[in-house]
Amino acid sequence: MKHTIWLLWDHLHHDHSILAAASPRTHRIIMIESRSAGARLRYHTHRLTLLYSAMRHRAEELRAQGWHVDYHPLSDKKNAAAEALAAHTKKYRTESFHLIEPTDYPMRQAVTLLAKKISTPIHTHPDDLFLCSREEFARFAKNKKRLLMEHHYRAMRKKLGLLMTPDGQPEGGAWNFDHDNRAGIREFVRAGSPQAPPPPWCAPDAITRSVIAEVKKYFPAHPGDPATFRLPVTRQRALDWLNHFIRHRLPLFGTYEDLISQKDPLLFHSMLSPFLNCGLLRPLECCQAAIAAHRAGAAPLNAVEGFVRQIIGWREFVNGIYWEKMPGYLDANALQAERPLPRWIYSGDTRMACMHHAILQLQATGYTHHIQRLMVLGNFFLLAEARPPDVLRWYNEMYIDSYDWVMAANVLGMILHADGGYMATKPYAATSAYINKMSDHCAGCHYRHAEKSGPRSCPFNSLFWRFWHKHRDRFSANPRVKALIAGWDKRPAAEKHAVLQTADEHLKNIDTL
Ligand code: SF4
Repeated sequence: MKHTIWLLWDHLHHDHSILAAASPRTHRIIMIESRSAGARLRYHTHRLTLLYSAMRHRAEELRAQGWHVDYHPLSDKKNAAAEALAAHTKKYRTESFHLIEPTDYPMRQAVTLLAKKISTPIHTHPDDLFLCSREEFARFAKNKKRLLMEHHYRAMRKKLGLLMTPDGQPEGGAWNFDHDNRAGIREFVRAGSPQAPPPPWCAPDAITRSVIAEVKKYFPAHPGDPATFRLPVTRQRALDWLNHFIRHRLPLFGTYEDLISQKDPLLFHSMLSPFLNCGLLRPLECCQAAIAAHRAGAAPLNAVEGFVRQIIGWREFVNGIYWEKMPGYLDANALQAERPLPRWIYSGDTRMACMHHAILQLQATGYTHHIQRLMVLGNFFLLAEARPPDVLRWYNEMYIDSYDWVMAANVLGMILHADGGYMATKPYAATSAYINKMSDHCAGCHYRHAEKSGPRSCPFNSLFWRFWHKHRDRFSANPRVKALIAGWDKRPAAEKHAVLQTADEHLKNIDTL
């Protein structure tokens, strides 16, 4: 055996294309826990625990299948990958390493550098973690000034034949059912505040317990407490998690997908992204499981379509944009936002109830659902003119499912409009009216959601109007917001002055909001 397959920490899928074409007689496997990769940013400790523990469990599975796995656990070594590859080559007289193309740019650069350092050739093979290849997405994006997720999503539905009728039409006569998926907190309470049973949390086994101890030791300043980690780390347990979601949460997922509840952070969300993004689950099988539930009459179309769109719509789209626009995408700052993050952004020590709860939840679990990401946290970053690289770093550090390819387009494109509208037709800015409609935060907040000016007025309100006032030239012809800007222009001068002054005060005192 002169050839070795290198499995990266997010390439743990059971149908890994290089593994499928090889055998324990022809190839060895090497797996390397890189401390420098884990410390590239201050990643959440639950993210690190998930990835290192899933790697160790995957190595055990492969050994049980007869593979020779050369495993290099976390260590003090500075150049763990280079040293491990060199030692492996020397020991086994390896002639070539083979890995799937890394999912993000920093890892791709690291592999390119390694290939120059070591004498053994490193061959990369096409990325097989996604349903749309980078080449296919490039063809979709070619010659387009602006990309819309909806167009790509429809093409993916047709290509994969998901939720399509035999004559090529979308099932239910529409491509999406978002109008059925916007129930707010009052509808939720009127419906008796339905609750799903808790997901199948996993008590850490011996492998995970040792990872938790090592994550504590090697990454002491990272957010989150690894001792509270309870997520699946094997494919089987991740499948249990998927099946539990399909049975218990999918039926109401659509109706309440935009809702935020202090009492139940997960609500009816799947929280599958951490497992999808490291390969424990596969995108197509998740979609097919949801569609099978719909066919069996166990889940309505609005829920299933919304779930499928998150996976073959948003997930594939943000990955495609990442590779289409990198590396320059990270420098995007179309709105010239230059303010630092507030001091409390890691601790959650703020009187803004919605921000406080989202940050505490992140500290505890590394997870919030998409509306907290976009319309609470992201909305605040946008309106507070936070510097895009700082915001991107924060999202990468705080979320358990973060990878460069996930966060770049989500943060720079969707949240901050920093790419100038390449992937969003307008900025996702909102006042407290939206947060108050969708959440149970405002009633207990220090700030008054119905006020636009004055020291106790909700910061989202005055900052919202300041945002459109400041960027009116850029957006006043945009059909989606021009009426809003025209409405602001018609307000009495004294009212506008009070709102803008309040916004300036909030920005000046942002560290103590
Ligand atoms: Fe958030 Fe404003 Fe509501 Fe407070 S009043 S919870 S800051 S939206």
